[in-house]
Amino acid sequence: MEKREELYRGKAKTVYLTDDADKLILEFRNDTSAFDGEKIEQLDRKGEVNNKFNHFIMTKLEEAGIATQLESLLSDNDSLVKKLDMIPVECVVRNIAAGSLVRRLGVEEGLTLDPPLFEFFLKNDALHDPMVNDHHIVCFGWASEAQIAEMKRLTFAVNTVLKAMFDEAGMLLVDYKLEFGLDTQGNIVLGDEFTPDGCRLWDKETRKKMDKDRFRQGLGSVVETYIEVADRLGLKL
Ligand code: ADP
Ligand code: UDP
Repeated sequence: MEKREELYRGKAKTVYLTDDADKLILEFRNDTSAFDGEKIEQLDRKGEVNNKFNHFIMTKLEEAGIATQLESLLSDNDSLVKKLDMIPVECVVRNIAAGSLVRRLGVEEGLTLDPPLFEFFLKNDALHDPMVNDHHIVCFGWASEAQIAEMKRLTFAVNTVLKAMFDEAGMLLVDYKLEFGLDTQGNIVLGDEFTPDGCRLWDKETRKKMDKDRFRQGLGSVVETYIEVADRLGLKL
């Protein structure tokens, strides 16, 4: 597989074309950002840890019958993925109240959400990723009603698989963000990443934060804690 020109450089990953028009390389960098790119730092080994973590999780999701972008792990920092036509919304599921939900609605952090809550956000840093609903998505042509239904179905299916997996490893899956795209046949496929950068994980007993909130809140030991999460799941990094 040949790495060709850079297609897009995001805040944490760089996307490269390859000699196969239907495949891309995602390079996971050490850059770590928060607050829409206002706080940025390089964290040693973060790219490698997230690349391998994402590969591990997407493999589990594939095994559970969820269509993902996954092709193969190419190197420490690079993964080969299906090229998707990304839908510009973020799908968030919350099992426990935290983050923007707490700020927006004034609910208590740590409140159990049963049934879990689903939210859409528009992927737009300049507008600070505003919350949108199904009607905005259809009205502005970002996705159809059927595609919205499929994104919700898949995001909840991911919850069923991963909530149980983290629970068995002594962690609470508080919330997470997924991005979907369309493959060449027009199927909705899970893209981007699932790593501790895009979810919240708390230790079940102590409620220690084990995700990017360590970076956002300056708690330290960010990558070390991501490695501990992987270790508990049986992935040695
Ligand atoms: P951001 O764009 O939010 O700064 P990243 O640094 O993670 O985020 O950049 C990765 C970019 O690649 C994102 O815009 C994401 O939507 C896009 N992307 C992720 N997976 C795929 C894929 N399989 N096909 C096409 N684009 C993808
Ligand atoms: N999230 C993300 N990228 C974003 C926004 C949110 O990965 O651009 C993740 C975030 O890490 C958390 C979940 O989505 O796991 C819900 O985030 P929230 O809306 O609480 O926003 P935040 O607290 O990050 O402002």
